[in-house]
Amino acid sequence: MKNLIPTIGLEIHAELKTRSKMFCPCPNDPDEKKPNSNICPVCMGHPGTLPVLNKEAIRSVVKVGYALGGTIADYTEWDRKNYFYPDIPKGYQISQYKYPLVSGGFVPVENRASELSVAITRIHLEEDTASSTHGQGKSADESLVDFNRAGVPLMELVTEPVIHDAETAGAFARELQLLLRTLGVAEANMEKGEMRVEANVSVASEEDTKAGKFGTKTEVKNLNSFRSVERAIAFEVERQSDLLAAGDKVVQETRGWDEDAGKTFSQRAKESSHDYRYFPDPDLPKLVISEIPEFSAAILKKDMPELPWDKRARLIKDLKLTDKEVSVFVEVPAVGAYLESVTSSFKNKKDLCRLAVNYILSDYVGLLKKENGEAYESKIGSIAPSAFAELIVMIGENKVSSRGAKDLLAIMHGGDSRKPSVIAADKGLLQKSDACELESVVKDVIAKNPVVVADYKSGKVVALQFLLGQGMKATKGSANPEVLKEVFVKELR
Ligand code: ZN
Ligand code: MN
Repeated sequence: MKNLIPTIGLEIHAELKTRSKMFCPCPNDPDEKKPNSNICPVCMGHPGTLPVLNKEAIRSVVKVGYALGGTIADYTEWDRKNYFYPDIPKGYQISQYKYPLVSGGFVPVENRASELSVAITRIHLEEDTASSTHGQGKSADESLVDFNRAGVPLMELVTEPVIHDAETAGAFARELQLLLRTLGVAEANMEKGEMRVEANVSVASEEDTKAGKFGTKTEVKNLNSFRSVERAIAFEVERQSDLLAAGDKVVQETRGWDEDAGKTFSQRAKESSHDYRYFPDPDLPKLVISEIPEFSAAILKKDMPELPWDKRARLIKDLKLTDKEVSVFVEVPAVGAYLESVTSSFKNKKDLCRLAVNYILSDYVGLLKKENGEAYESKIGSIAPSAFAELIVMIGENKVSSRGAKDLLAIMHGGDSRKPSVIAADKGLLQKSDACELESVVKDVIAKNPVVVADYKSGKVVALQFLLGQGMKATKGSANPEVLKEVFVKELR
């Protein structure tokens, strides 16, 4: 069999974090535990009710569109996607078919596997369905339906089939989650079902793939974590490649992902769009977005926060951070914000910024992780950024040694809110960099160690290390090692 190349396109649904649902005033609360408490006749699909558009939901999707450089539709409308299932009380889902809110755009994705600008096909807005559970009621064959989720605004983003490996697909999903959080439009927590990824996977020969002729695709659903996105795609690529290698055919179908077995399994034949009998919803207004001033590029771009990929590029360029360093500041927003506020008073002093990066990443984050594990993010800020900045300046001016700085940091994190210079003076952590001050210590060490001094003077240079050690001991580690060495060398001349 010739070299087979996988081709992957993603469809991602994300619940928007608006206050109310898409077409009614019911609260949009993903954390509501009591089933069927956030419901009304509209989201229950009662006859005679009418939907009203949620402006905030539209604004959220338009914002995402601008962030990705997509084209915002001038004209848009809502369509009914007809199908029967207990989780869709009206018998249809209100979605967008022919006129999505956003077309085109890109998400830049960089990872070990590739550096790729993933082209977006479209982003549209629809309503979420109710959630159903099976076999958890009074009897094993009973199904339960909770309508709290019915009618929650749902953004659907579809990519072009331009991804060719599982890792990049995972990286794309991570980057999209980060973007949605940065824009404040969604939490997109995959484990909570707030973001749901489906992958269209096919394999074909290198030649055919290059010519844009893809193999028969399957659609993999039920992917509840980034890891399962990557694992399921890798499994599916191998399954399809094996089928083709054996001379069999890939069947176009929807497949589920069994996390425990680590396998995809056949669910049902894939519907095509004509099965849904889409038609424009007569209950909702058509929108001409260009006629709505508050959705204009000028207004929505004005308050746009720095996008993750822009922030990454800026930190790498300005502070010469490595990919690994930058990923913490970009992907853990609290750490990124902390760095910004610590360094805000440093202006263009790059060496101080660099020191701040080191002490935040290896010492502060290290300390927080040791105490809180991966949940450390919420503890960032136990040291006020201004106090942290002062500590960095002290380190930069050699007023405190790196050892002393670690101790100070721990004391400050422990709740001592005095200025770091005051704490350092109090706890004897100030570094002695004054040569005159160190002179008496040095003279004392020399007087007490005549044999070592004689060794040094006869040419045994390493003997100096011992004397330096004695000097550090005498100052309880507070001597600036460089100054101490200079004084020794001078006194031993
Ligand atoms: Zn409702
Ligand atoms: Mn959808």
